[in-house]
Amino acid sequence: MRYAHVVLDIPTRALEGAFDYAIPDELAPDVLVGTTVLVTFSRRPSVGYVVALADHAPAGVAPERIRPVLQVLAPPAFDAVAARVASWMAREYACPPCEALRPFLAPGQLVKVRRDTDADPWQLVCERSGPVDVRWVRLAERDEPYEPRRNAGRQRMVLAALAAGPMRMAELATTIAGAARAVSALERKGAVVVETRRRVRGGGGTSLSSAVAHRPERLTVGQRAALAAIDEARRAARGDVVLVDGVTGSGKTEVYLAAIERACSQGAGALVLVPEISLTAQTVGRFRSRFGDDVAVLHSRLSAGERYDQWDLVRQGMAHVVVGARSALFAPLRDVGLIIIDEEHEGSYKQGCAPRYHARELAARLARERGCALVLGSATPSIESLARCRAGRWGGVSWTRVEMPERPGGALLPTVRVVDMTQQFAGGNRSIFSDTLRNAIEEVVRRGEKAVLLLNRRGFATFLMCRACGCVPECPHCSTSLTYHERTHQLACHTCGRTWPTSAFPDPSARCPHCGSRYMGAFGVGTQRVEDELALLVGDRAEVIRMDADTTAAKGGHQRLLERFDAAACAVLVGTQMIAKGLDFPEVTLVGVVNADTTLKLPDFRAGERTYDLLEQVAGRAGRGGRPGQVIVQTYWAGHPAIQAVARHDRALFLDAELDDRREAYYPPFARLANVVASGRDGRAVGMALDELAADLRERVDGLAGWEVLGPADCLKSRVKDRLRRHVLVKAPAEADMGALLGACARRLGSRPGVSVAVDIDCHDLM
Ligand code: ADP
Ligand code: ZN
Ligand code: ZN
Repeated sequence: MRYAHVVLDIPTRALEGAFDYAIPDELAPDVLVGTTVLVTFSRRPSVGYVVALADHAPAGVAPERIRPVLQVLAPPAFDAVAARVASWMAREYACPPCEALRPFLAPGQLVKVRRDTDADPWQLVCERSGPVDVRWVRLAERDEPYEPRRNAGRQRMVLAALAAGPMRMAELATTIAGAARAVSALERKGAVVVETRRRVRGGGGTSLSSAVAHRPERLTVGQRAALAAIDEARRAARGDVVLVDGVTGSGKTEVYLAAIERACSQGAGALVLVPEISLTAQTVGRFRSRFGDDVAVLHSRLSAGERYDQWDLVRQGMAHVVVGARSALFAPLRDVGLIIIDEEHEGSYKQGCAPRYHARELAARLARERGCALVLGSATPSIESLARCRAGRWGGVSWTRVEMPERPGGALLPTVRVVDMTQQFAGGNRSIFSDTLRNAIEEVVRRGEKAVLLLNRRGFATFLMCRACGCVPECPHCSTSLTYHERTHQLACHTCGRTWPTSAFPDPSARCPHCGSRYMGAFGVGTQRVEDELALLVGDRAEVIRMDADTTAAKGGHQRLLERFDAAACAVLVGTQMIAKGLDFPEVTLVGVVNADTTLKLPDFRAGERTYDLLEQVAGRAGRGGRPGQVIVQTYWAGHPAIQAVARHDRALFLDAELDDRREAYYPPFARLANVVASGRDGRAVGMALDELAADLRERVDGLAGWEVLGPADCLKSRVKDRLRRHVLVKAPAEADMGALLGACARRLGSRPGVSVAVDIDCHDLM
């Protein structure tokens, strides 16, 4: 008789590990690690996942008392290594084991046991994945390439994506809004061909990769050094990490492609993570152009059916390069030679709901378990990664940084000028634009070029605010600062969607209710306001395009605005953070940052780092074509190291100051930080639960060096959708096992009616 260790699909912290079940002989061939099975638990049927097999009955339990596996519900989805990683994740992030395992299951698989209302026996509900789109689109063979009209931007994007090779219709549709219509139009014109083909099973025939992959003739010195370090890490086969620290456009993607090529030639595959926002047809196309059919794409915009299909390609060993958002880490790739995380500093690599893992940490663990290399790439690496590279070792493996400071072909980095807005204000300039920025915009318009203006809206920037004392009206339901909408004269809460006429709050034209300053609202600049002032400045000499949450709310809105900007002869694009990343417009010669320092005002220890990253990224948007680029940064805090570092192209300036601050304040990377948030409608219940948890925490950390418990206190967003939120912050030494201690506290507290407790270890969101 064999036995199975089964993790039950019951999301409670009370069930800590796996349970043992006997495998009846007739099921033995089908019960493998990774299978979903039906068992009983407390006399009820329950779904579980097999995480290990054993030949002997568990010690100390009479064999006849061990219950049997009743049924196999789904074939294996993960292997023993993945099961170990999931178990690590459950412990590290203090989440129930089944929540750590679920991401490893087949997409769309949702097996539940449900009591049927009229017929008594329990029923299995299994959500099957939808139909799979097997349509492929490729360029038609023509003598002359088809040239769409200038304003048919979508058609041009489709053609550009296909230039690298054929793509699935579903991929095009999820990465280019309105692709289906563009494809039909192009098909009518004879520019593309749509074919329905069955998947090439088994053979791995790359009939599709007929397109010649663009490949640079010679790698740069930096690229060769990065590749050598990656080779070394792969040879060591113990999860060593290589940080590719390269300015935008220095050829990091080219390094990934070459490294994957090497891994593939040795029979291994690769997992490639890119931030969701840069997972575009162009990115996918670049990987397809090298690896053709061997690429699977996983991201949330695919339908469940498509996701399942891509996942299954990987499981069946028909695709060895997985490109996706953070969830690509869970792809069932058997022989992983490389894990790559592009833009590794991105906050979106931290999962916001359970399991609250950070993709970088999970990838590092996975790389160790699989004995492969982890490659991190960024123009602005996270302080955590930089600190580990400075130390050379972390978590038992080596961390190596390779610099790529230059763009191939020697393209110039843009010049950066910092404008001190307090001097502008004192000098009588009450406009949003400094004289410097105004002149630069004039110049761009005169020369018929393009400019991008960034409005830093993360934080209090968009809000009505007193320039003298910082007073900001808040939503009474969400404690979120309210945004002022000029055109409708309303204040709106962007958490719950409520609006108020401005008369309900201090009139923006009146004095600050707090300090009496007349400059209420002067700082609360929104994109509309910038758009209006710009329109006055440039008149009809240039097109002004605004891109923010409002103008991109409609499906495909984002795309349409970019197309307009692309097609315009002379234009200024005004937008929020969403314009800072990934956009590549060669004609942009000026980037203006209207208010650089608003993120600096956030009560978050990463405020400086985020500001630096944002400015550095946005500066990389200028001067990508032949013409030199200029960046103008407006700020009320010109002396801040983050701003000075960007101005002087000297990261060390920022890093040294920031590391000193972090060490002194005892924040990551010198400490670990966890946020425990309790929320619910009943404030008393929330408060009591959290007080109890905090008391327990204090007792447990008493006498442990380097542990601190802060709070309980109201969260900065103390109310969201009428749920009250209170939290406790916990600090611990950098190498501390926070998961075990916090998990134990959460288990001890148990479940409280009406109160949810979220444990966020290595938290990114402190609000
Ligand atoms: P990053 O990912 O660092 O932003 P990319 O890999 O996208 O940089 O490279 C930027 C541009 O430079 C791309 O157009 C790429 O094709 C080109 N490129 C990359 N490496 C080389 C090289 N060794 N020689 C010439 N061009 C290169
Ligand atoms: Zn004031
Ligand atoms: Zn609200």
